[in-house]
Amino acid sequence: MQWEVVIGLETHAQLSTESKIFSGSSTHFGAEPNTQANPVDLALPGTLPVMNRDAVEKAIQFGLAIGADIAPVSVFARKNYFYPDLPKGYQISQFEKPVLSGGKISFVVEQQGKQELKTVQLTRAHLEEDAGKSLHEDFLDMSGIDLNRAGTPLLEIVTEPEMRSAAEAVAYARTLHALVTWLGVCDGNMQEGSFRCDANVSIRPKGQTTFGTRCEIKNLNSFRNLEDAINYEVARQIDLVESGGTVVQATRLYDPDNRETREMRTKEDSQDYRYFPDPDLPPLTISAEWIEKVKAGMPELPEAMRTRFIRDYGIPEYDAAVLTQSKAMADYYEKLVETAGMKLAKQSANWLMGDVSSALNRENTGIDEAPVTPEQLALLLTRISDGTISNKIAKEIFADMWASPSGEANRADSIIEAKGLKQISDTGELEKIVDDVLAANQKSVEEFRSGKDKAFNALVGQVMKATRGKGNPAQVNELLRKKLG
Ligand code: ADP
Ligand code: MG
Repeated sequence: MQWEVVIGLETHAQLSTESKIFSGSSTHFGAEPNTQANPVDLALPGTLPVMNRDAVEKAIQFGLAIGADIAPVSVFARKNYFYPDLPKGYQISQFEKPVLSGGKISFVVEQQGKQELKTVQLTRAHLEEDAGKSLHEDFLDMSGIDLNRAGTPLLEIVTEPEMRSAAEAVAYARTLHALVTWLGVCDGNMQEGSFRCDANVSIRPKGQTTFGTRCEIKNLNSFRNLEDAINYEVARQIDLVESGGTVVQATRLYDPDNRETREMRTKEDSQDYRYFPDPDLPPLTISAEWIEKVKAGMPELPEAMRTRFIRDYGIPEYDAAVLTQSKAMADYYEKLVETAGMKLAKQSANWLMGDVSSALNRENTGIDEAPVTPEQLALLLTRISDGTISNKIAKEIFADMWASPSGEANRADSIIEAKGLKQISDTGELEKIVDDVLAANQKSVEEFRSGKDKAFNALVGQVMKATRGKGNPAQVNELLRKKLG
C-alpha cells in the first residue's frame, strides 16, 4: 500500500508587546516566578480585562503581510477547561469570529533533490492569551506553577491540511518564522517558547480523497523536533494501520530524548470546551482607517525587497531569494553594497552566500552576530577588485578577520600589511621570478613547446608557488605567454 501524508499546522506566535493582552503587567521573559501576573491575568473577582491595542496592530500587520481578510468585527470567547496552569478555569480566545481569515504563505521546499515552490492556504489566525507554566522538580518530587506567562498575547495561526511531508511542514514553519520576525510582531525565540507548533498528522491510501483520522502533536519548539515528531508519527500510524489497527484521534506529546510520541489525552471536541462570548470584553472592531494607518508603518516585505534587489542590484532571482530570507541578512547585504559600491553588487552576494554563510553555518550563528562588519568585508572586496590581493588570499584574510574580531575599520589593510600579502603586480619583480621558474623547469617548457597545453598550467602553478600565492594571476599568465612565445 502507498500512503499519502496529510499535515496541518497550528502555530502559536507570541506577540512582542510590552504588556499582557488584557492587562498592564509586563511580558518580559525570565523574571522571578509569579512576579508578573496581576489580578486581571488571574481573573480575580472585581477585575476586568482591557484589550491591548498593540497586540491588535501586530495581528493586523500579519494579516496584511499574508493577504488575509481582517474582520471588521471579531469576538473574544471563553474556552473553558481546568488545568493547574490555568486556575481561572477558562482561556480567553477567539472561536467563531477570529480576527483573521484566509491568506497564504509560499515557500521553496527541497525534496528528492528538486526545488519546488509551494503555497499553503491559511484557515484563520486568532488572538488569545497564554496560560501559566507548570515546573516539575524531580529531585523534590514536587511541581510548582509560574503564572508569569498567564495573559501573554498569542496569535494562533492555523493552516489548511495541505502539507504532504515533514520537509514541507518544516519549510512552511521556517518561512512563517522568518516572516513574523521580519515584521517584528514576534521575537521568534523558540527556546523561550515564543514560537511553537502543533502538528496535525494523518495518513491515507494514495488516491483516496477523504482524510484519515489525525493525531495532534503539541508544543514542538524547534524545527528539528517538528521534523522528527512528524516522521515518527507517520511511521507509527503506518505501522499501526498495516498491522490491522486503527488510528484514534488523540493529542500526543513528542519526547525528543526517546524520539517518540506518547498519547496525552484522547482528543476532545470543541463542544467540550463550552465556548461562549466573553461577557467582559466588547467585540473587537477594526476600521479601514486603522488598517491603513498600520499599513503605513510597516517595513518593506520580503517579496517586495526581492523584486527590488533584482531590479536595483542586478543580481539573479536565486541570489535575491537567498539574501531576503531574513531581514538581518538583507540589511547586511545592503550595507555591504552601499560601502563597496554598485560595481561589486554581485561579488557581495557571492561572498554572503559563500564564505560568510559557511562560516555562519559552521558556528551555528546568525548574520546579526557575525564578527566581520559589512564595512570590513566591503574593504576586503575592494582590495580584490583593485588588484591588491587575489581572491584566494582574500579568503584567507576573511578567515583571519572572522577568527579574531576587531572593531578596526581598515582591518583588511592591516592584515595585508602585517602579513605581507600584497599581490606582486610589479612586472619587474614578477619577470625575475618567471625567468627563474622557466630556467628551473626546462622539461615543462619543452613539453609546452611540443604542444602539451597542460604544461602551461604546471608553469603557472610553479610561479604562484614561488610568489607564495601573491602573484597577480593575470600578469603571471601574460608574462609566461610572452616568454614562451
Ligand atoms: P482543533 O485542533 O482545534 O480541533 P481544527 O479541527 O480546525 O482545530 O484543525 C486544526 C488543524 O488540523 C488544522 O491545521 C487542520 O488543517 C488540521 N487538520 C484537520 N484535519 C486533518 C487531517 N485529517 N489530517 C491532518 N491535519 C488535519
Ligand atoms: Mg488544535
